[in-house]
Amino acid sequence: MSVAVITANPTPEFRAGGTDFSERRRSGVSQGMPIDISNTGDKTITWGADGAVQIGALTTIATIATDARIAAAYPGIAVSAQGLATPQVRHVATLGGNLAQRSRCWYFRRADIDCLKKSGSTCPARTGNHLYGVAFDLGDCVALHPSTMAAALLAYDAKITTDRRSRLTIAELLGDGSVANADHTLAAGEMIESIALPAPLEGERASYKRAISRTHAEWPLVELCARIVIAGGRFQLVRLAAGGVAPVPLRLAAVEVQLAGKVADAASIAEAAKSASSGAKPLPMTAYKLDLLQGLVRDVLERLSI
Ligand SMILES: Cc1cc2nc3c(=O)[nH]c(=O)nc-3n(C[C@H](O)[C@H](O)[C@H](O)COP(=O)(O)OP(=O)(O)OC[C@H]3O[C@@H](n4cnc5c(N)ncnc54)[C@H](O)[C@@H]3O)c2cc1C
Ligand code: SF4
Repeated sequence: MSVAVITANPTPEFRAGGTDFSERRRSGVSQGMPIDISNTGDKTITWGADGAVQIGALTTIATIATDARIAAAYPGIAVSAQGLATPQVRHVATLGGNLAQRSRCWYFRRADIDCLKKSGSTCPARTGNHLYGVAFDLGDCVALHPSTMAAALLAYDAKITTDRRSRLTIAELLGDGSVANADHTLAAGEMIESIALPAPLEGERASYKRAISRTHAEWPLVELCARIVIAGGRFQLVRLAAGGVAPVPLRLAAVEVQLAGKVADAASIAEAAKSASSGAKPLPMTAYKLDLLQGLVRDVLERLSI
């Protein structure tokens, strides 16, 4: 295992709520000059005439979790925010910081251990303990993406605007998971300004659920945000975005395709849920996540549909 190298001129880093940043400062993993944006960034929630919303990047997770209009229009976003971390963390953590937070991999978070996400050339988790790692092995780094809100926003086709780029998809913001040394595509000093959601669809229902090893104050093992529209007893729209399984949040396209136009009943859902692990490449310790993923798909879709 290689030892971490201290960078001579570390890159400056934004501090929003500070719940991720401060912990990496304390451990010595982050050494760049802090730029405090907690009081300068956009905290507004703006509704369009068509019912679409734009959320300022400095809006707290607690605000999103408790806003009645967001809960009515975008229940998958509201429930995701309600399930995240602890009340104390949600009170200060921001939506922009949640999207840009760094990996929770315990090797990455140790200042005395190097890895591909720092200046190293190997991934100690791949050969070491990766119990909480990816089940879709898409690149050299086997850490999953930690953002609950990114998965929810993926399910809603959200667009992110920074001070340099407009209307990025979640995939454009976070990449495809193949680049080991990054958790997102933001350039040094590029700031997320706002997140826009399209207007809700007529008759849309949505929800979120996580499989977790303790009831609160923990990242999920696997999480799922689901949106559906049912008309005439059949699925007109199914959108499923999973977190906790890959280096980026994943759309479960195989399940979505299988359910399109199908009768919205337990049998169709049970059959389609088996496809949730389509394309998975689990590590020696992470195959258990595929059972959790299939179970979540089945559970959330049944609750929403039947
Ligand atoms: C016990 C516990 C459980 C948790 N569980 C979960 C969970 O289940 N799901 C989950 O998603 N998270 C979880 N978290 C993490 C928490 O949600 C994040 O730390 C928080 O959302 C980060 O937001 P922040 O505003 O505090 O960001 P900060 O800590 O201020 O910043 C995080 C990173 O984002 C960058 N950044 C911040 N704002 C911007 C911006 N506007 N533009 C560009 N870069 C920016 C910073 O430079 C920094 O690198 C948990 C945390 C704890 C302590
Ligand atoms: S999984 Fe990624 S973050 Fe963790 S040790 Fe490997 S390269 Fe580093």
